Amino acid sequence: PQKPHVPSSELKICVCVRKRPIFSKEEKNGEIDALSCSNPVIMIHEPKFKVDGITKYLENHTFQFDNTYGENEDTKTVYESSIRPLCPFILQGGTVTCFAYGQTGSGKTYTMRGLQEMVICDLDKFGRGQLTFHISFYEIYGGRCFDLLNNRAKLTILEDGNGNIQIQGLVEHPVGNKDEVLQLIEYGNSVRTTHATTSNEDSSRSHAICQILLKSGQREFGRLRLVDLAGSERAQDCVSNNRQRRIEGAEINKSLLALKECIRALRGGPGAHVPYRGSKLTLVLRDSFEGGSDEKKVIMITCVCPGHSSSDHTINSLRYADRLK
Ligand code: ADP
Ligand code: MG
Repeated sequence: PQKPHVPSSELKICVCVRKRPIFSKEEKNGEIDALSCSNPVIMIHEPKFKVDGITKYLENHTFQFDNTYGENEDTKTVYESSIRPLCPFILQGGTVTCFAYGQTGSGKTYTMRGLQEMVICDLDKFGRGQLTFHISFYEIYGGRCFDLLNNRAKLTILEDGNGNIQIQGLVEHPVGNKDEVLQLIEYGNSVRTTHATTSNEDSSRSHAICQILLKSGQREFGRLRLVDLAGSERAQDCVSNNRQRRIEGAEINKSLLALKECIRALRGGPGAHVPYRGSKLTLVLRDSFEGGSDEKKVIMITCVCPGHSSSDHTINSLRYADRLK
């Protein structure tokens, strides 16, 4: 029998959820674990008050994804069921993009750092030490791009006549040794956070994009993009009293919506309009999506906090992830 026709722009995306452990400090503050995870399901028990304001009841919401990881699952488990199986695909010229989405404090950066290290080590192993890694690492903050590996130099996004996007000024560091790769990434991560007054404050308002291009001599292999997205709750800052926060919030809101809309539009098959221009984030990542599943793979890891006081944000994050399926 003939295989069903798969439109070339159709893109399958792997959608996962990771729940971080509840901290003892949170428990001391009366926080209750409102999430239970049983792969591939996650359930949120939402404490609520009835209209009369007296009777408390629990409302359950159940979601199902490609994978859900509970608090006892380490980053290695996440890695082995998400990115690791795609290493051969990258080495055959594919592009893999992995996003971490979620509210501030849910474990996006924690997850990304672990994945960065594991995938570099694996690619190095698969490439038998013959590969050079070309690393670039930049941040989108308030709609502007900054190079995290070049003194936060301001970068310009350019589009040529063929619609190819280029980030002018972005430095690509060729590195042969995996320890140097990891040092560079560590440096980029530190530039991102030490720039802030408190470590999670400013980084929660920026998207950080780490790009790794693989080469052996002049030969180009695939690429990997690891994207630590801005805190999803920051989208609500667009109603803040602080003008700067409002601008940043509006930008984050726009970019996270645009990301969702692009991913959804890609299911429309060839000719479907994909609104990449909806934000800087989707514009610079256009190449992560175009070309269909033979060339591109996308993983979305939605990170969630276990505490009941985060339930509204958690529900929002799970709904966002659910819309991408
Ligand atoms: P985000 O980047 O989403 O704001 P972080 O990655 O900074 O969140 O995580 C917030 C805190 O929670 C950090 O102290 C981090 O070390 C810790 N954390 C996050 N995920 C886990 C996990 N799965 N296991 C243990 N600690 C975690
Ligand atoms: Mg972070």
